[in-house]
Amino acid sequence: MSKGSLFVISAPSGTGKTTILKKIMAEVERLSFSVSHTTRQPRKDERDGVDYHFIDKSAFVGMQEQGDFLEWAEVHGNFYGTSQAEVEKQLAAGIDVILDIDVQGAQQVRDIAVDAVTVFIAPPSWEEQKKRLSSRGSDSAETIELRLINGRREMEDARLYQYLIINDTVDETADILRAIILARRSATRRSADGLALQIPS
Ligand code: 5GP
Repeated sequence: MSKGSLFVISAPSGTGKTTILKKIMAEVERLSFSVSHTTRQPRKDERDGVDYHFIDKSAFVGMQEQGDFLEWAEVHGNFYGTSQAEVEKQLAAGIDVILDIDVQGAQQVRDIAVDAVTVFIAPPSWEEQKKRLSSRGSDSAETIELRLINGRREMEDARLYQYLIINDTVDETADILRAIILARRSATRRSADGLALQIPS
């Protein structure tokens, strides 16, 4: 059995990425969403262990010190990290894994997993992004402002990703993302010596 593939998805806050990923997760088989650890407070519709593992700063530092994170970063004033053990377990079982992580985390993954597929999802416009962030209703004006400023900086990293999708509509973006995932499953693997065929067992 061949190992699963790693898909790194990044998007500025307020792009609509969570809605797209929920749709993809419901539609594509053999796909797992890596539930990150974070020190951020849960939003009212978020569930511990489903959206995130919500932990405090000292627990996060403990995990860092144990080397439990595949990658981690401070984003918008909170800490976020991906559990290495969880991801490796899925990949070893032949299941593809989606990492919903920021641009700093994506760079760390690129450094250690060169064959990861990287996708950047951008908001259709600045106004739309601001509207989506405000409509969430749970973030303070200060938090929204910080996320918008950071989002502008994150956009500069879009060129480092293999794919860029402008999120005009959820359906269209989900279609493109699904196509990327399915295409990867049909890709032949190339080694330094040429084509290394991987026939599924
Ligand atoms: P939010 O607080 O809106 O859920 O997420 C804020 C940002 O943190 C998003 O860009 C999201 O992709 C990123 N993020 C979520 N989990 C992780 C993680 O495990 N590692 C990194 N580096 N970023 C993460």
